[in-house]
Amino acid sequence: MSSWEDAYKGTPPWDIGRPQPAFVELVHAGELTKGLVLDIGCGTGENALYLAENGFSVVGIDLSNRAIAAAKEKAIERKLKVNFRIANALSLDFKNGYFDNAIDSGLFHTFNDNDRVDFASEIARVLKQDGRYFMLCFSDKEPTNWGGPRRITKEEIETTFSPFFDINYIRDAYFATRIHNNGGRAYLTSATKKSG
Ligand code: SAH
Repeated sequence: MSSWEDAYKGTPPWDIGRPQPAFVELVHAGELTKGLVLDIGCGTGENALYLAENGFSVVGIDLSNRAIAAAKEKAIERKLKVNFRIANALSLDFKNGYFDNAIDSGLFHTFNDNDRVDFASEIARVLKQDGRYFMLCFSDKEPTNWGGPRRITKEEIETTFSPFFDINYIRDAYFATRIHNNGGRAYLTSATKKSG
């Protein structure tokens, strides 16, 4: 059993039972344009369900059976339609240019250096030209004393994604968790798939 599957035996620190405020703000600001959205590493689905509630068509994928089962249950309870399914973000079975936008709430910061490259190219592959990728990860401003996933610098984000994307911004943000009062220090990245 994977460590992700183990994490979902209980309630992991990132599974806050509501959408991440950073993504709620993106919707309010109109930055996420309507169309088909991929929530990559969707966990138990709060962000995907929030988008569905706001009129988006959403596919949510995650490696963990438990997480996907929980997400599907929530969708039924809340009478919302999201296509939740088990899949590996590093080798997606969607055709090229399938999605208008993709969101990533806390997945990128879990990858090792090699996987980062495969991940960035997979996301770009499944996005339409000019499709956008919005990513929330812990930043290098978040203390490391409590453990948790890797802290990411702006330079690392640029190095990983700029071969495939034009980076619109990398902004200071917060990643809400069950162990922080006001969230951990994070970066919110907006990137547009390069043409050609
Ligand atoms: N986005 C969710 C979960 C964040 S935790 C939220 O905001 O609550 C990271 C998630 O990525 C976990 O659910 C984990 O199971 C999933 N994950 C890790 N590696 C993955 C991979 N290679 N492909 C798909 N999902 C993955």
